[in-house]
Formats: sequence, structure tokens, C-alpha cells
Amino acid sequence: MSVRVVARIRPLLDKESSSDIIVRADRVAEGKSLTVVKIPNPKNEAEEFSFSFNSVYTDETTQEEFFNAEVTPHIKPLFAGVNLTIFAYGATGTGKTHTMRGGLRLADRGIIPRLLSAVFRRAKKVTKDSAGKTTVRVALSYYEIYNDRVYDLLTPPDKRTPAGLPLREKDGKTVVVGLQERECADLKDFEKLYIEANQHRVTAATKLNAHSSRSHAIIRVQITQTTSDMVLESVASAIDLAGAEDNRRTENDKTRMVESAAINKSLFVLSQCIDAIVKGEQRVPYRESKMTRILGLGQNQGVTVMILNLAPVRKYHLDTLSSLNVGCRVKRI
Ligand code: ADP
Ligand code: MG
Repeated sequence: MSVRVVARIRPLLDKESSSDIIVRADRVAEGKSLTVVKIPNPKNEAEEFSFSFNSVYTDETTQEEFFNAEVTPHIKPLFAGVNLTIFAYGATGTGKTHTMRGGLRLADRGIIPRLLSAVFRRAKKVTKDSAGKTTVRVALSYYEIYNDRVYDLLTPPDKRTPAGLPLREKDGKTVVVGLQERECADLKDFEKLYIEANQHRVTAATKLNAHSSRSHAIIRVQITQTTSDMVLESVASAIDLAGAEDNRRTENDKTRMVESAAINKSLFVLSQCIDAIVKGEQRVPYRESKMTRILGLGQNQGVTVMILNLAPVRKYHLDTLSSLNVGCRVKRI
């Protein structure tokens, strides 16, 4: 079990001014790669806090570079049976969806489409190298957790059960009961499904007068390799968490408050789980939210990559500090 924690600082947006930049990336020594994030103490700006991570990425990092550095090394192990979990953590507007999903232009594509592309490429190679003796099946599930309820995104919103899908423990793993799993033959197949599912997500959010940044979105790619005498299953999960902003400081109407409470609750439970794991406590409160049950931080056999998405400007000062603190604790898991 290992958790890798990396920070990604997004570029300035058009409406933001470079004079408001307060976050910077640094290195521990000349010639070393970026691993440090520096930010002023909000109570005394003359003082600076430093946080170190496995790696730090800046506005100069392209989607391709980010993927090659943080995901590509895990593809081969994935086909050897090592599960992979990648999750994006940060306030709304810090680049989580950009990192996980990305834009439509080829160069802007995020981790999810690139992951699927890499998986299909690898599957082809495995089949070819075994002279067709190995078959590889790639199947996709895609769902969201909204107000602690699990909704299948491969199902149109009008066919959803409002109560959501239940969770169950099976062989020590948490499974979503009744979740659709669709086989994808190739990247085109996947893209069609992905676009359709994202549309479902938007429609559902509109109906509820909500915003998709208030739910956790989870993609699960199940890879099954079969030969005449063995079956090897592995799973890659990519999670775009709900915005981790401090809602006490946000003006919220009543529905928003209910949502925020549920979102905050799952992220709060996540934080408690992290604390319990770091302190080596017997009881980790995973079961207190669906998101933490599914994420299973510290329970997964396999590789976990936490991406801390950060905005560089002052407006996010407290949220950025809070994310950096969470990331630092996860590093100790
Ligand atoms: P979140 O999902 O965390 O709320 P988004 O991914 O929607 O944040 O990003 C907020 C804005 O910043 C979007 O307009 C997005 O296109 C832009 N953005 C985020 N990260 C990058 C990046 N690395 N390069 C260019 N634009 C980015
Ligand atoms: Mg988002």
C-alpha cells in the first residue's frame, strides 16, 4: 500500500491578476525537481509556510506531461494486477475536473480519456504478445455520490431511483449494488459512453437545481485478462471529489446548505479517516460516509495517487492552506 501525494497549481484565469499570486512552487535544492509549495501565513504575511510533496506541478505542466509523470508508470503494474486509484482534491475552481476530465481538444484531454487510451493500447499489446492466447475485457462503471447517495451515471436521470444505490461489503471490498458495468471495445466506444454519462450528470444536476461540483464523480475501469488457465482482474479508479471549500465562508441558500452539509460531511469524514490512519488508531470511521467507504483510503492494496489541486491566488488563501494540510497528513499514511 502506498499513497503518493502531488500538488498541481493551476494557471491564472483571465479574470485573475498576477499581483494576487500567493502560492509558489519550489525545490529543496538546485537541480532537484519541484516538491515544495510555499504560501504566506494569512495571519502574518511576512511569514511563509512550506509543504513538501512527492511532486509539485505548475502552470507550465501540460496535460500530457502530467499524465506521463503520474499515471503512465502505473499502467504496466495495473495489468500485472496492481489496482490504481487516482483522486483529485481541492476547492471548486482549482482544476480538479480539468485534471481528471480535461477539455475536448486532444491536447487538453485529462487523465480519464488518457487512462482509457493507455489501457486499450496495453490490452492490444498483451493480446499480441501472447499470440491471442490472452483476451482482455475492459468494462466501465461511472457514478456519482450526491448528498451521500449513489447514482449511476450510465443510467439516464429519469430512470434513477431517488434513494440511490446501496453499498455492500463483498470479500472485504465495498461494492455498489446494481451499478451498471458496460464493456468497451475501444476508445471510441468509451468516448461515446463518457460523453453520454457526463450529459446525464449535467441533466440530473439541473433538475435538482444543483451543481456537479457538489458531487463526487467516480469512474471505475475493470480489466479482466483471461487465458486458458487463469483470470486476472484489476481495477483503475479515477475520482473527481466535490469541492472542498470551507462553506462557512460561502453565502449559501437553504438547499445549498443541505448539500454543503452532506458534502462537508463526507470530506470531514475523510479528514477524520486520515487522522485515524496516521495515528494508527484501531477504528477508522470509513463507514460514516459512502465516499470514504468507496475510496477506502489506506485499505486499498495497490497504488493511490492523491492530486491536490490548487489555485495560485489570494481569493483561495484559506482553502489552499486547508488542502495543503490535508495533503500533508495523507502523505504520512
Ligand atoms: P474544479 O473542477 O476544481 O472546480 P475546474 O477544473 O473546473 O475546477 O477548473 C476551473 C477553471 O480553471 C476552468 O476554467 C479550467 O479550464 C481552468 N483550469 C484549471 N486547471 C487548468 C490548467 N492546468 N490549465 C488551464 N486551465 C485550467
Ligand atoms: Mg469540477
